[in-house]
Amino acid sequence: MSEPIALVKSGGDGEVVAFACGRCGTVAGSPFLNGSTERAFKAAAEHCACTICGGERDRPFSTLCQACSEKRRAEQSAESDRMEAERFAKARKVSPDEVPMSAWACDPDERLGNDGYGQLDGLLEAVADTDESERPAYLWRCTSRRPFIDAKSAVESMVEQACEDHHDEAHDETVGENALLAAITPAIEAWNAAQTTHTFEVDYSTAIVLGATAEDAVDEDGKAVA
Ligand SMILES: [Zn+2]
Ligand SMILES: [Zn+2]
Repeated sequence: MSEPIALVKSGGDGEVVAFACGRCGTVAGSPFLNGSTERAFKAAAEHCACTICGGERDRPFSTLCQACSEKRRAEQSAESDRMEAERFAKARKVSPDEVPMSAWACDPDERLGNDGYGQLDGLLEAVADTDESERPAYLWRCTSRRPFIDAKSAVESMVEQACEDHHDEAHDETVGENALLAAITPAIEAWNAAQTTHTFEVDYSTAIVLGATAEDAVDEDGKAVA
C-alpha cells in the first residue's frame, strides 16, 4: 500500500480537499465524495490495492494483483474440471458408431469444429487429424433447434395486439380467428421449414467416447466404417 497524497488548496488554510493514490496518482477520495476525511484517505490508500490480499496491483484494469488473479484462475479452472468430470461420470457413454454421423456434437475442450461444435462425421475427421496427445477423450452429443413459429399462438397474439387500447370486451367480440389461422398456417409452416440457422445445446446426458481408435471409426471420406 502506498501512502496517499493529500491535495490541499493553494493559498487556503491547509484543509485537505482530496487524496490521490500514492502509486498511480489518480484522485481517489475526497471528504465531500466519501463522507469523511478518514474514508477519503482509505479510498485513496486502497485505490491500487488488490481486493484479496491488499498487496499492490500490477495492472490498472484489474482489481487483483497478479498472484491473486493467477490463483483465482487456477481455482476456477479446477472447479470447472471437477464439474466436467462429474457430468462425464453421470453421462450415458456411447461409441461413435451408435450415433448418426450427421448428429451434432461438441468437443469439451472447444478446440475442434466451430468453437467445439460440429457434425459428428466432421468432428471425427478433425480428431483423426489431431495429434494423439491433443485429442479429446470424448465428445458431448448436442441437440439443435431452429427458429419456429407456432401458428396458433402467433394468431392469438396478433388478435390480442389488435385489441390493445380497445374496450375490455373487444377481444371476446372479435370474429374470424379460425379463418385467419387456416389462411396463415401454410405460410408459417413454409417459413418454419425454410429456416436453416441452428442453436445448439450440449446434451450432457450422452458422451460419445472416442477411445484410441477414433481414427478407425471413419474412412477417407469421413463416413462411418460399418
Ligand atoms: Zn492507484
Ligand atoms: Zn493479491
